[in-house]
Amino acid sequence: MMKNDDVCPKCGAQLSPITDTPTGRKLQRCSQGSWNPQTHKNEGCDYVKWLEVEPVELDEKCPKCGAKLVLQVTRFGKKMKKCSAGSWDKETKKVIGCDYIEWINGTSEPLDEKCPKCGANLVLYTTANGKKMKKCSTSGWDKVAKKATGCEYVLWLKAGQVNSDNGEEFLPPEE
Ligand SMILES: [Zn+2]
Ligand SMILES: [Zn+2]
Ligand SMILES: [Zn+2]
Repeated sequence: MMKNDDVCPKCGAQLSPITDTPTGRKLQRCSQGSWNPQTHKNEGCDYVKWLEVEPVELDEKCPKCGAKLVLQVTRFGKKMKKCSAGSWDKETKKVIGCDYIEWINGTSEPLDEKCPKCGANLVLYTTANGKKMKKCSTSGWDKVAKKATGCEYVLWLKAGQVNSDNGEEFLPPEE
């Protein structure tokens, strides 16, 4: 969907096609700019346009008021379920309507690495507040017994140990 207004307000060049970030957000860069992984700097035009991620309507009802829940991705890539009857008033910084929000705990993505304990595949797990760990794909959580199940191998990663290969973390704040 290339529209005529898809031009960079800084330099007037065409914007590049929409890119999905690993955290589920969408952005368009200026076609005159590119990310240099060697220097960790943007080269050329540094214009980035963040796109609104449309909330996805869920087939779940708000436990507070019974309205539909929607899945929304925040500007920091965190995911939450929120009530469609609620909205955010930027002026008063308060929620209008229903304030039900449920944060979604973390995401996991498969890794091409094997668990040193049991040899199963590892997954990269990102917690809701952005901490990352490698854990064994056989591990799970028994909600009834409130116990971990399967292999308990976990390796927490310090900030910076996982490099975002597209430079997303270096992008200017979304506004
Ligand atoms: Zn530009
Ligand atoms: Zn509600
Ligand atoms: Zn394991």
